[in-house]
Order: sequence, then structure tokens, then C-alpha cells
Amino acid sequence: MPTLVFAAPATPLAPVAGSDAVFPVRRVYCIGRNYAAHAIEMGHDPDREPPFFFQKNPDNLEFSGTFPYPSRTSDVHHEIEMVVALAEGGVDIPVARALEHVFGYAVGLDMTRRDLQGIAKEMGRPWEIGKAFEHSAPMGPIVRATEIGHPDEGQVVLEVNGVVRQEGNLNQMIWKVPEMIAYLSEYFALAAGDIIMTGTPSGVGPVVRGDMLKAHVEGVGEITVEVV
Ligand code: MN
Repeated sequence: MPTLVFAAPATPLAPVAGSDAVFPVRRVYCIGRNYAAHAIEMGHDPDREPPFFFQKNPDNLEFSGTFPYPSRTSDVHHEIEMVVALAEGGVDIPVARALEHVFGYAVGLDMTRRDLQGIAKEMGRPWEIGKAFEHSAPMGPIVRATEIGHPDEGQVVLEVNGVVRQEGNLNQMIWKVPEMIAYLSEYFALAAGDIIMTGTPSGVGPVVRGDMLKAHVEGVGEITVEVV
């Protein structure tokens, strides 16, 4: 056993609903533009182009119910997303078997420094500076698929201070959950502990300190997050 030169960083642990169990997170994949109405609002053609993904860091996940307003931005946007948590991985997973790999689902937010993402897009640079910053992925407890099944329709609603800002339905996803798992597994070796954020419906917009975000995915749950 080699000697660690410093203490190994802790593995981020996602709470599992209704138990003391926790889900150790390995990677966080996020799909872009997966609802037609959101693709249009961001200035893109909603045709079914191949999906694309970016990653957040596992330690960007935030389970405390607060979202500290990040540095170096003045335009942080909310994106409500259903989150998929994998209990098993693999490569070249067929679409028809993809859901067998799912442990459960959660409600999450893909918080985005839209101003910095916009500059990155313009300059053809990677998105990390806009997407993969500290606390950028508030998330609720994972609900086991053995309890709720595999939601493929249901309201997705984000309220800010009691006013509905985003509203969509899981059945509006361009790439469905089994397709996302299958596609990712062609390019990456998926594994237990991987998380997939499944994209956001239209209505994204800025938040400010003091805002209370209520994110609801029908059949999965609801989280409340305060911007601090
Ligand atoms: Mn997103």
C-alpha cells in the first residue's frame, strides 16, 4: 500500500431518498439542447442532430439546498434537469438494455455562468468555465427506480420566488434516457456512480442572491434551493 502524499479527496456522496444510504458519484455527464423549445431559445435548430455532452465535476454537486452565487459572472442561469444515476456501467450498451443500468432519478439544476459560456461558444473554447464551477449542480436525493420506475413523461417545472420560469415535460426530450446511456457508452466506459443530467426545457434565465428556486419533476420529486 503506497503512502498518500496528502489525504485522498472525499468521494462526493449523493443522498438516497428514504434511507441512510448514499450514492458515491464517479462522473457527471450533461447533455446540451435536449428540449426543442430550449434549443430554439438558445438560437439553434431543434432538428435531431447527434447529441452532445459536456461534464461537470463530481464535487460540483451541491446537496445543501443553497447555491452560493459564483465568482466572475453577472449572469448565472437556472436550468432544471432530471438526473439519472447509474448502478452499473459498460461500453456499447444497447438502447433496449440501457434502463437496466439505472439506479434511480433525482431533480437537479445545471447552474450556468451564461455570460462566460457565451464567450466560450463565440471563441470556440470549452465550456468548463461556464458550467463546471463550484456548487454548480444543486441536486436532491436519488429516488430508486425500484420505487418509481423509469419516468419518461411528467411535468418539469422551475419556479423562482413562486413564479413559474421553466415548464416542460419529460416526454419532450429529443434524446430519451435509454438513448443517452447507449450513446455515451459508445464513447466512454460508463460505470456505477455515473450521473447524467438530461437537459433543460425552455425558460432559462438569471438568478440573483436571495432568490428561492423550487424545482419539480413529476414522479421524481422536488427541491428548494436558495441563492446565497
Ligand atoms: Mn443543461
